[in-house]
Amino acid sequence: MQALTTRSKVAVDKKMTLKERLYLPAIIGGMAITLKHFFMKKVTIQYPEQTREFAPVYRGQHVLKRDDNGAERCTACGLCAVACPAEAITMTAAERKKGEENLYREEKYASVYEINMLRCIFCGLCEEACPKEAIFLTDRKVDSEYQRGIFVYGKDKLVEKMDERVDVSKRQTKEVIEFKKHPEYAHNQLNKSLK
Ligand code: SF4
Ligand code: SF4
Repeated sequence: MQALTTRSKVAVDKKMTLKERLYLPAIIGGMAITLKHFFMKKVTIQYPEQTREFAPVYRGQHVLKRDDNGAERCTACGLCAVACPAEAITMTAAERKKGEENLYREEKYASVYEINMLRCIFCGLCEEACPKEAIFLTDRKVDSEYQRGIFVYGKDKLVEKMDERVDVSKRQTKEVIEFKKHPEYAHNQLNKSLK
């Protein structure tokens, strides 16, 4: 019979030798391998007490940014939701009322904005699609939970806190910053600060 690969092995039902029947040499051999690994450099770490250094391009939990005055940048245009391949983003748009200019930068804002972190694949397409510099992925990790519902993050978890601004400037390459200097994006005040 012709073998399908060159790696196939013929199984033989041969009798065990005395050494094999004693088992002891095999046990000693196994222990020697275990002992050898005690002195080798560990490839594992004690997570979560220890963490590895993240790559500069790591994409973790999203943030919905505020502008320099603290107003929410998102205008509920829905482009991030359309761009999302995992259909993880949903939102409800609302009209800004008089006197709310300090809360929302545009005339329209997201009264509800949710991301299902279990669906999200952290591809970053929402960030790329956003014309308002409103959504960014960050180096923060999504917390582990025991209930699925908790993974639907609303504005309470996504919008950055006034006293805890999230610095996303490290994620902006020189090329991206140059590209965004275009007058069309002037309203984003990117060049003032992204903090
Ligand atoms: S990172 Fe990708 S998958 Fe996650 S919400 Fe944004 S577009 Fe959707
Ligand atoms: S985050 Fe950006 S793309 Fe998404 S709805 Fe808000 S403004 Fe539009």
